[in-house]
Formats: sequence, structure tokens, C-alpha cells
Amino acid sequence: MAFPTQARAVVIGGGVAGCSTAYRLAELGWKDIVLIERNTISSGTTWHAAGDVNIIRNSLEMMQIIRDSVVLYTSASEETGQDIGFKHCGLISLAQTEERMTDYRRQIALFRSIDGEADVVPPEQVAQLNPFVRNDDILGALHVPEAYRVNPADVAQAVSKGARNKGVTIIENTLVTGIETKRVGQMQEVVAVETDKGRIACETVVLSGGAWSRDIGRLAGISVPLHAVEHSYLITNVIEGVDDRLPISRDPDNYIYSREEVGGFLIGFFEPHAKPLSKVQLPDDFSFASLPEDWDHLEPHIANAVNRYPALETTGIKLLFTGPESFTPDGTFLMGPAPDVRGLFALTGMNSSGIAMSGGAAKVLAEWIDGGEPPIDITGLDIRRFPRLLGNTAWVAERAKELPSWLFEAGLPRREHKHARDLRLSPFHIRFESAGARFGQAAGWERPNWFAPNGKNVDDPLTWKRPGWFDVVAEEHKAARETVALFERTPMAKILIEGPDAEDLLQKVCANDVSGADGRLIYTAMLNTNGGFESDLTVTRLAGDRFLLITGANEGVRDQDHIARNAGDARVTITDVTSAYAGLALSGPNTRELLSRITENDLSDDAFLYLTAQEAWIGPAVAWALRVSYAGELGWELFIPTESAAAVYDAIVAAGQDLGLTHAGTYASNTLRMEKGFRSWGHDITPVETPLEAGLGFAVRFNKDTPFIGRDALLRQRDGGVRKRMVMFTTDEYELWPVVNEPIRRDGEVVGHLTSSGYGYSLGKMVSMGFVRNGGEAVEDDFINTGAYTIDIAGERIPAEASLAAPYDPKGTRMRG
Ligand SMILES: Cc1cc2nc3c(=O)[nH]c(=O)nc-3n(C[C@H](O)[C@H](O)[C@H](O)COP(=O)(O)OP(=O)(O)OC[C@H]3O[C@@H](n4cnc5c(N)ncnc54)[C@H](O)[C@@H]3O)c2cc1C
Repeated sequence: MAFPTQARAVVIGGGVAGCSTAYRLAELGWKDIVLIERNTISSGTTWHAAGDVNIIRNSLEMMQIIRDSVVLYTSASEETGQDIGFKHCGLISLAQTEERMTDYRRQIALFRSIDGEADVVPPEQVAQLNPFVRNDDILGALHVPEAYRVNPADVAQAVSKGARNKGVTIIENTLVTGIETKRVGQMQEVVAVETDKGRIACETVVLSGGAWSRDIGRLAGISVPLHAVEHSYLITNVIEGVDDRLPISRDPDNYIYSREEVGGFLIGFFEPHAKPLSKVQLPDDFSFASLPEDWDHLEPHIANAVNRYPALETTGIKLLFTGPESFTPDGTFLMGPAPDVRGLFALTGMNSSGIAMSGGAAKVLAEWIDGGEPPIDITGLDIRRFPRLLGNTAWVAERAKELPSWLFEAGLPRREHKHARDLRLSPFHIRFESAGARFGQAAGWERPNWFAPNGKNVDDPLTWKRPGWFDVVAEEHKAARETVALFERTPMAKILIEGPDAEDLLQKVCANDVSGADGRLIYTAMLNTNGGFESDLTVTRLAGDRFLLITGANEGVRDQDHIARNAGDARVTITDVTSAYAGLALSGPNTRELLSRITENDLSDDAFLYLTAQEAWIGPAVAWALRVSYAGELGWELFIPTESAAAVYDAIVAAGQDLGLTHAGTYASNTLRMEKGFRSWGHDITPVETPLEAGLGFAVRFNKDTPFIGRDALLRQRDGGVRKRMVMFTTDEYELWPVVNEPIRRDGEVVGHLTSSGYGYSLGKMVSMGFVRNGGEAVEDDFINTGAYTIDIAGERIPAEASLAAPYDPKGTRMRG
């Protein structure tokens, strides 16, 4: 076969991710697809995986993805006659703590809402399901019949053969050495893939190079934040009575999993303090290879395994296998369009779930590549969720140490990473530390979650219940409502759009009308062609053709990329100025008095209107002051050149002493915005929700001169009626708090799931929101306002009040003056 010089799409990597992507593209009718593998199919990580495919997760999208994987693997097996060792074995997952049991009950509630079958079973039943498991130290277990085993190498063979049958050209023993791009407008564009056998001109490239993807990405100048770590399992000699009818058995409290393997056990470890692998340990010719055994490292975990499976005391170990697997900074894989390079996509960084995820994720990716938009909410998977610097090898290697064990931590809310902290520190960091800040991390930034009062230690363990910081955050919340609270805003992404075509471009990408006078601040959506939210943000015309966009900390790369993709030949420059400006927000009735003491600007309602911005001489410095509040109170946000930001902070703190100025963190910010019904992008609104569904139609101007992206889809929806609507819920506080994904029931039927929740201190109630559906019919006000609602928290149905309006200050009078 002659080496191809041209293709429509080149997929790099012949592991399960690359093979699945090639198959899925071909399934959609794509021709001229070439898959390049430097060795042979499955030779990287895929060949040695344990092959467990567990459906149940904490996310609806993930469960759908895994179910789609199973469909692909079994149908490819049937199509090609390639046996994949498919076994329907079920799963048990043990629990030694109440927190773990609650986690399971929550997962069951979610799983059952999509017709999944799962139960919590007592220790006696665990013994029946797997008699080899020691059960005298557990509270119970999760039992899920819908779990499978496959032989991963055979899966890759079946899927690649299936792809070949659909016309995909698979070229093995060929190394990708370059990705050629050219500059078109604001973007680079894929032109060709270079290999050691020749150049293939192409318009689409999919990066599925597993643990090697970071280096391959750099060939195109993109940052792929992942790092390889060692992952090990052992295989025991034959144990009498062990056979393939035993369920996959997980013991997450001890970081071990097991299943049958040729009459013995395969026992794998997701140990804390995992070992990152250097480039030297994973050279380009690392194929069908394993890593050196490290018995010392695994010794305590093997001891745990012996404790869990007493039969191991008298059984020999046949093999200790260690292979590489790639992990990403948040433990979730990377997919979608790469930032800044049109035509380049990724499906990689599979976090030890690549067998379970790839077949389904590839379906999503192929539909995205083919249709231009993702078919499901992928905000948590989008490769553009990470700022470029998080692709730093040393940083992500440090983070990777804790990532395997995260797979087995209970899904308790508000967990923060321990490794790879203190990378991005705002100029206020030391001052916040002195004020007792307890930090969390967003986009690599440290930002206060809450502030511990002087000398008081209220650091409680993570919990599903009322947390230890409850009273402290109550004070922060109260200050924002009754006096004045000070919030960190430095991590917000800030993008400058400048140039003669800046307004036209923004009118095209924004659904609201941003054409106002200098100083006008507009809350707007950026939409995709389906009318779904690519982002929600504020756009401020600083002066003339100069606009400042303020968006979420994790949205900066995506938003910039979205604007650049749609810029065509517009005469604009797009500059990320996030690091150039530090940010603070002041909210509460005393804000005006406080700021008036340190600024020359007139802050009266007439001189400084709500939703406007001014350059402000403030303290000893100058800043952009934006009259806006995420707390729903009188408030200003200040964006201050980084070098003088600390001086402004000092001036604020000095001026606020007698006004009740209180430091407040992201937890208080969340409770405040929940009461106000402010949606959070990536949680409440995503690319698969429209402003009309989200109740944010006020941020859309259908009749402005420039038609905006998504307008046609929104018009169709406006005329046809929306099929889901965002609804606010209030409930009494029960022992377990709602978090996210809890099923919403109307008259007993599941009509949706919560997207976010918090305690509403001003209301004395829990406040949540989520989309409600009406069985595919239009959702009218009457449907929302009638019927009895409950929220299902870990199997308990909690009565809820539903409302389309925000439960606190629904008319928004407080923030206007
Ligand atoms: C011990 C172990 C057990 C596991 N168990 C499970 C499990 O039970 N269930 C589960 O879901 N997951 C499991 N996993 C994870 C799973 O194996 C991986 O997530 C998955 O195989 C990753 O597939 P991939 O296609 O992304 O990467 P790979 O399989 O590594 O494929 C990438 C391919 O790219 C090729 N490549 C790299 N660079 C180039 C280049 N420059 N040019 C051309 N080709 C290139 C490589 O040769 C390789 O074949 C396990 C992993 C390990 C290590």
C-alpha cells in the first residue's frame, strides 16, 4: 500500500481512544481517515489494562459515555468476529465509613433516575456475592449488576478492524514527528501531519497519543496538561473457587480493586503518593513494555489486599505488573477542539478509565467534529478548561502524585487538591493568609474559600452534612447583605478586545447588544450555533474600540478561543490580561460609603449608574471600577494593575474598619448568588442549554443590527417553546445537604436533576436550581407552578418549593441602589 499523502482526518495513536475515534468518524460517513500508530495497535497503555468497565458514576454524562462504550465494543466484536472477552460480571464496592455509604446512596439515586439498577447491600450479602472478601470490618457495599469485563487488547483489535472495514486506513510502525499549521486570521490552522514515513496533508487531526500526548501537542504548539504515573496490579496463582462469575470488587477505602484472572485474582492499586514517570522512563519506543517492579512502594497496599482477601495469605503472586497511565490535573480526561489551532482535536489523558470511557467519548467527539457542536454537556471534559501554564511538566507531575487515589475518594463536596498548590498567587495572598483565609484552587489560582476568625480552628473534615465552617460563612454572607464584604476576584479571566472591528465582532459573538456608550457594562451570553451557552460574561466598553471582557477563572482559554475562531479577518487584537489586573469585589449597603472615602470619583447613583464602569482614582492607585455585584447587592468590582493592587487593598481595609467590612470567600459568594438565582457557567448553564431555557432571555437582543451566532436556533426555540426550564428550589435543611445531580421529582416522576445548591443564610433554607422537563413537551409556567416537588438526596425525598423567580430580591432592587 502506498503511503497516503492526503487525508481528511489523521488520528494519532492506535490505543483504544484513537481506534474508537477513527471508528466513530467512519460511522458518521467520513472518508479518507488515516490512523497512525508508531508501533502496533494497543501497544502503548491499552494492551495491559485490567479491562473493568463500571457504569455507575457521579455524573449523568459519564454514565451515558460508558454505556455507549459498551455498545461500540460489543457491536465491533460482532461485526468483526473478534472475541473481546466480554463478561457481564457486576460490581461490588465496599464501604468502611458512613460518608462512603452516603456517596453510594447518592450514586444509586442518580443511577436509578436513568433506569439503572443498583443497591446498597449489607456485609452478609457481600459474602454471598464474593465469598473471598473479608466482610467483618465493612458497613456494607454498593452492588451494581451493570458492570463488565473486557480484554482491552482485543477491544482495540475489534474496534480497529471495524474501523478498517468502514474504510479507515491504519498505518502501524510509523512515528508522528510533526504537526504543520499555518496562520489564518486569529488562529493557527492544521495543514498536515509529518511522520517518519512522509507527510500527510489534512484538515483534521485527532490527538490520542495516550501518555505521550503532551509531547505530541507541543508539535502543534498546544498545551496538553497530563502526566504519566505508574499504575500496578498483581496477579495471584490459582485459588480454588475463584472464577469469572465473581463480581469486580472494589475496596476504595484501602485503594484496591480486584477481579478474577485465570482462576486467581487480579488486584490493582490506586495508591496515594503515586509515582510520576519521567520522559526518560517512557521513551518513544516504549511499546508492549512494562515498568520495573517496586515491591517496597506497594508493600503497604499489598498488605491491605491480604487483609481484605485472606486467601492471599497462602497464595503465591504470579506477576506484579506496572504500566504507565496518564492523568490530568483534575482527574478527568481531555477532549474537544484544542485551543488556538483550528482542525486539531484531542481525546486523551484517560485517567485510568480509558477502556470504560473511550468508545463513548469518541462518539461525542466525532459528532462534535462532524457537526461543530458537542451533543452533550462536556464542559468538565473540554481540553480548553485548563490555562496553558497547567501543561507545565513539573507542575502536572507534582499534581499527578495524588490523582490515582482520587479515583477512590468518596465524592464528598469541596475536596481540594493537596499537591501542586501555590502556583498562581494574587497580590493579596499574604494579606488574605493573615486574615485567616482557607484557600481553594481554580485555574491554578489560590483563592479564599472562607476566612477562619482569629485563632478559631473550624477546619472540619469534608462532609455531606452541615459543615464546620457554617457559622463563619454565615457572618461573611451577612456582611454582604447588611454591611460590606470584600471578595477576591483576581482569578477571573480578563480579555481585552481592541481594534476597528472589535464592536462588530463582539456583536456577532454576543447575544446581547454591546454597542452602548463608553463605560457601558453588559451581561451577555456567547452562544454556539445551537443557541447553547459557550460562556456567560460581562463586556465593558472601556473607550471607543476597546472592550474588557470579564469571565470565569476556568473559562478564559475557552472564551478567547471561541472569539478567535469566529473572528474571521476582523481587525482586532485579543489579549489575555488576566495577570495584569488583580481584582476585588465589594458588596453590601456600606460599599458606597467605604469607597467614597478612598476615591475621587462620584459614586452616587446619578454619577455612577448600575452596570457602568469608570476609571477610578482609588487609594493611592488607579483601577477600573465596575458597578456590578455577584452577591445581588450594591457593589463594585475593582480591577487594579497588579503592582499597585496590594496598596488599594490596604486602603480599603483601613477605610472599612468602622463599616463592618468583612473578608468573604467563594463559599459565601456561592450562597449569595444561589439566593439571587445567578447561574454559574459550567454548572447551571453549559453549551447544551440556551438562554431561553435558562431563564436568561433578558440577555438576548434578537433585533440588533448584527445577527449573532445562535440567533436562528433561539428564534426556532422561541417559536416552538422550550423543552426544559431552569427552576429554583427551596427546601428545609435536612441532615444531608443537596449538592449537585440530585434527581428532581414532580408528583413522583423524575423531571430533572439539580445543577447547584447552597445554604441560603438570608432565607434560612437550602437553595438549589436545576432544569425541569415535561416529558419532551413544552414547559409552560403552569407546569412549573403546579405539582408537588421533591429532591431525592441519597434516596430520601425532601419536599421542595419550586419557583421560576429567584427566592431573594427577585426584582433586583438591592443591587440597583
Ligand atoms: C495497569 C493498568 C490497568 C488499567 N485498567 C483499566 C481498567 O480496568 N479499565 C479502564 O477503563 N482503564 C484501565 N486502565 C487505563 C487504560 O488502559 C487507559 O486509559 C487507556 O488504555 C488509554 O488509551 P489511549 O488510547 O489513550 O492510550 P494508549 O493505549 O497509550 O495509546 C496511545 C498510542 O499512541 C501511540 N503513540 C504515541 N506517540 C506517538 C507518535 N508520536 N506517533 C504515533 N503514535 C504514537 C502509542 O504507541 C500508543 O499506542 C488501566 C491502565 C493501566 C496502566
